[in-house]
Parts: sequence; C-alpha cells; structure tokens
Amino acid sequence: DNFKKVNDAYGHMFGDQLLQAVALAILSCLDEGQVLARLGGDEFIVLATKTSQSALEAMASRILNRLRQPFRIGLIEVYSGCSLGISLAPQHGKDRETVIRNADTAMYTAKENGRGKFCVFTPEMNQRVFEYLWLDTNLRKALDDNQLVIHYQPKVTWRGEIRSLEALVRWQSPERGLIAPTEFISYAEESGLIVPLGRWVMLDVLQQIAKWRDKGLNIRVAVNLSARQLADQTLFSDLRQALSDLHFEYSPIDVELTESCLIENEEVALSVIEQFSALGAQVHLDDFGTGYSSLSQLARFPIDAIKLDQSFVRDVHKQPVSQSLVRAIVAVAQALNLQVIAEGVESAKEDAFLTKNGVNERQGFLFAKPMPAAAFERWYKRYQTRKMR
Ligand code: C2E
Ligand code: CA
Ligand code: CA
Repeated sequence: DNFKKVNDAYGHMFGDQLLQAVALAILSCLDEGQVLARLGGDEFIVLATKTSQSALEAMASRILNRLRQPFRIGLIEVYSGCSLGISLAPQHGKDRETVIRNADTAMYTAKENGRGKFCVFTPEMNQRVFEYLWLDTNLRKALDDNQLVIHYQPKVTWRGEIRSLEALVRWQSPERGLIAPTEFISYAEESGLIVPLGRWVMLDVLQQIAKWRDKGLNIRVAVNLSARQLADQTLFSDLRQALSDLHFEYSPIDVELTESCLIENEEVALSVIEQFSALGAQVHLDDFGTGYSSLSQLARFPIDAIKLDQSFVRDVHKQPVSQSLVRAIVAVAQALNLQVIAEGVESAKEDAFLTKNGVNERQGFLFAKPMPAAAFERWYKRYQTRKMR
C-alpha cells in the first residue's frame, strides 16, 4: 500500500530492497507448492492450486499480518502494508486472464474499502469498476463539452414569497440521457474533479442570476459545496472576479455546506465561511440532523440557516417523534438566530405542520421540482398570477 511513498522518499535503490524484503515476507506465508511472482511495480501475485477459499483467506490474513510489521532496511524502518484480492477458478473465471483480472478488481475494492484488507471477488465488483471507468473517461469530457446543466428548485418563504432557489447539477449525457448528481458527485469528489465542476456550477449560476437581474427578476441562488472545494482558494478569487465582471456589489449566491464539511477541517471551514460572508453570501448547513449535529458547532460557525433534512419532514404530521425533533431543532435555531429551511416537503399536511411550528422556508415537490432556468421562469409567472388571485 505504501510503496510509492517510500520509493519517492528514499529512492529507487531503497525501493528495490524493500520489494525484495516484502517478497521474502510473503513467501514465508505460503504453503508448499504455491508460486509467488512479481507482476510489476509493487504488485505481487500468488498462484495456489488444490486449495479452498477458507485456506486462501487464512493465507491472506497471514500475509496481511506479516506486512503490517515494519521492515528494516539499513538504518531505516518503514511500514509497507498491503491490500489483497482473491479470485477462484473456475467460479470466478475459466481462463488465466479473467482470473487475474478479477483478483485485481477484488484488490482495488480492498483498497477502496480502506486498504490493509483482503476481498474475495464478486461479480458486483465488476459492475462497480466498470461504472468507475465509465465515469473516469466521460465526466471530464462532459465538463469540457458543456454537458452539465443546472436545474433550479425554488424555496418558498412562509409568507409564500420566492426569494431564493437551490442550484442542482445534472448531466445530460448523449449516451445515457439525464443523469442525477447522486450518480456522479461522489466519484467527482473522490477523483478531485469536483473542484473544476463546482467552479463551473458557481460561475454558470452567477451568469444566470445576472440574466434574470437584467430582466428585472431579482433572486438569490444557493449552490452546494463539497468538502474538497473548501481548500481551493481560487474559488474565491474566481467568484470575486465574476462578481465584479457582472457588476454585482455583493454575492447573490449563497452556499450550502454539510456538517461533515465543517468537521473535517474546522479551521479551513471557519475561514471559508468568513470569506463567503464577507462577499455577502449566506451560509446554510445542509442535511441538518443526519450527521454529527453538534450544537456547539452551530454556535461556533457563523452560519445563517440550517436545512432540515427530509428524514424529519417525511410524514411529520403523523410522526410524534419527528414532531418533537422539528420543534426542538426550530427552538435551538431561533435561540441562535438562525433561519430554518425544510427540505423535501411533498404534502400539504407536512407543510402545515412545519409552517405552524416556525419553519421559515420550505422546498420540495409540493411546490416545484428542480427545473431548467427557462422552465423556472414560466413556473414563476404562473406562481405569481396564482398568488395575486
Ligand atoms: P441535496 O443538496 O440534499 O439536494 C436535495 C435533493 O432532494 C435533490 O436531489 C432534490 O432534487 C431532491 N428533492 C427536492 N425536493 C424533493 C422532494 O420533495 N422529495 C424528494 N424525495 N426529493 C426532493 P438531487 O438533485 O438528485 O441532488 C442530490 C444531491 O447531489 C444533493 O443533495 C447534493 O448533495 C448533490 N449535488 C447536487 N448538485 C450539486 C453540486 O453542484 N455540487 C455538489 N457538490 N453537490 C451537488
Ligand atoms: Ca443542498
Ligand atoms: Ca439536503
């Protein structure tokens, strides 16, 4: 698991010696008649015949334990560690290439699951690896070729006004049609692509707000930010530049952060929140109540609103426990001078309970689904006429 780091730190000679030491260590875990080979780089493979899955798993545990011990090379002590994949013939493949490829897939799954583990191949792993590769080749292209689109979902104040929308990204794929963000955001976060993707979202939204402003429609839009974007200082310089290019005195964009974002790196989060606030952006805490929800966090970070997660909203009129939680969360928010926005409101009965109990804004299919900018304009006109009557 750590070979590349060691090699970079101590050089190739040292790396070669470590590989030799690791090879001997693995060899000491094998049974008679089994073959160890180096496939290349830091990858080794063991061929075991006339064995069983349980015997292979026991061997994998022996190797993991052995490689968990430090290696001493010259005066230096290093930890190597490893991840292992197991595939069996004929169950997981009848030819050499398939068996090796599936062992590789299982090994990648072990790495993905936190390293220092072994995994036995399952056919579902292939699906996931295939999906990963598909995203890997296509999502970057999507960003370059303008295949991403933003849908806007209105938030409705308790008085029935629309002051702000949420921007939710979608991918219009020529191959697969409209893809929901749940299918690609976590990949984008893992691969780092979320940084350019999130910047695109922010700048595209700002241009849309400027178009609306020029038509006389003044509205704010909240964008979702991932933890990885917080460390990216160019996000601010780009936003500042775009604000001035489009003649905004202060930011009509607000940001939604999750609790885990704040916890992962408190200092960075604090400075990010302060920078956004200084530009005039509000900061909202997304999915509130699903994560760590620490009250001290609410007090420490200068946030403007919390978004009550849909899990508290669903059937709230019928669920006494949800009712108590909503009342308690609203009370805490009011004590700290925070607004409460309820997410995923689907029925009039849910809405009646929320509004009666002090929720400031509501968002959900009851009012409107997320929709493209032009569809929002039509919806908004209809909404206003309905309200006048
Ligand atoms: P989220 O921020 O919690 O967004 C709310 C999700 O609930 C959206 O799903 C929205 O379409 C859906 N929703 C809204 N009203 C209702 C309702 O009444 N009932 C139900 N069942 N669902 C409702 P969506 O658009 O699929 O987005 C999923 C998640 O993807 C978002 O969750 C957000 O975490 C992430 N995401 C979306 N766009 C971006 C983005 O530009 N950047 C980042 N980092 N994440 C994004
Ligand atoms: Ca959100
Ligand atoms: Ca949410």
